[in-house]
Amino acid sequence: MFKKVLIANRGEIALRVHRACKELGISTVAVHSTADEDAMHVHLADESVCIGPPQAAQSYLNIPAIVAACEITGANAVHPGYGFLSENARFAEIIAEHSMTFIGPTADHIRLMGDKIAAKKAVSDAGIPVVPGSDGGITDDAEAIRVAREIGCPVLIKAAAGGGGRGMKVAQTEADISLALSSARTEAKAAFGDDAVYLEKFLGQPRHIEVQVIADSQGNVVHLGERDCSLQRRHQKVLEEAPSPALSAEQRSEIGAIVTKAVSTLGYLGVGTVEFLFEDGKFYFIEMNTRLQVEHPITEMVTGLDLVKEQIRVAAGEPLGYNQNDITFNGHAIECRINAEHPRTFAPSPGTIVDFHVPGGLGVRLDSAAYAGYKIPPHYDSLIGKLIISADDREACLARLERALSEFVISGINTTIPLFSELLQAQDFRDGNYDIHWLERFIETQQDES
Ligand code: ADP
Repeated sequence: MFKKVLIANRGEIALRVHRACKELGISTVAVHSTADEDAMHVHLADESVCIGPPQAAQSYLNIPAIVAACEITGANAVHPGYGFLSENARFAEIIAEHSMTFIGPTADHIRLMGDKIAAKKAVSDAGIPVVPGSDGGITDDAEAIRVAREIGCPVLIKAAAGGGGRGMKVAQTEADISLALSSARTEAKAAFGDDAVYLEKFLGQPRHIEVQVIADSQGNVVHLGERDCSLQRRHQKVLEEAPSPALSAEQRSEIGAIVTKAVSTLGYLGVGTVEFLFEDGKFYFIEMNTRLQVEHPITEMVTGLDLVKEQIRVAAGEPLGYNQNDITFNGHAIECRINAEHPRTFAPSPGTIVDFHVPGGLGVRLDSAAYAGYKIPPHYDSLIGKLIISADDREACLARLERALSEFVISGINTTIPLFSELLQAQDFRDGNYDIHWLERFIETQQDES
């Protein structure tokens, strides 16, 4: 097992990784920008190193500074968290070149899944159903129109290097394709420095359902069930739940088995998430994330496994020590992403937190690095905490969520807490009856009413 792990991240996830390390008897090194000197992960880690100014490009994305911090502190492994360098294949290689372990999959798998065209082909060859679309990249209008005729409009043009919902354009009819193609390429070039795009069928009312997997270096792979992440705003997840209210136990084990087999064929190592759109009882692959997900805690609550500890153990070469039959799913879990944003306009709300009173009690977990008096820097994303609720079933989970939200007090800044209380009043949400477009319509109605 590793003696010392450097956590190349900030915020709640840096703290999450620190907690797992401590329970495994591993000492921790925090890295931070000058804007994060007072951050909780810096206070709690055994050691900390300042790696640069506030701008992420010069600190949390600064590979030479992070490698230097590893060398100064003698860390033997690096945990990248999510975001920042977590899906940077070159970073994983550099860590290995410096005789340290990158806690994640191999650089080759990160690279493969980072190219969504190549990823789609690889998983399809491994038996995973994909969204109908172009076989590879699309460069000219004629080719795009030919594929669109084959699969039928509307279609979606997506960036091969895509992430965060950027570089995606819908063409409702054939006449819209030319413009969608050129604007997707321009946006992809600007966002990712790569204008490669591909085309797929635009699904009208899908749910976003993703399957969590974990694999060890001996070739053992298990799936840990699914998460329903259909409640999204601008293609960003807002609330996630496990299990999905839309899946039967048979559908769960069916897709779980397909994913497990494919991940095993690909020789994958570590934790990973295979994301699907689910419509009319059918799954369609959209991408694989080769890292820990923001929403991993709901899987922890229903499986009883500590995913970060598992991730560290398999990175250290330990076998899983259990197989699929040992995994059981108990109860229901929901995660609300609490952002420092206005609950109606979603305008970012950096500033100083005055009161910070968190809910508690059975089945209430808060993953957050915030505290009373904490000054939220304006330089990073607006996530300030994840409220994770678990209970015996969905009904009890919703009641507990409502109770927990009513106890939660954060003052001094705006937060999205009120949005979740409003969501609980919506019958469709209570019934589990929603698709990926539902939340945006709900937010519009709320905005019209106020
Ligand atoms: P990114 O990597 O940018 O997050 P994804 O491929 O994971 O892109 O898709 C993000 C979101 O975009 C999905 O959760 C879904 O809401 C929407 N989306 C992606 N592909 C399609 C599609 N073919 N049809 C309809 N919506 C889609």
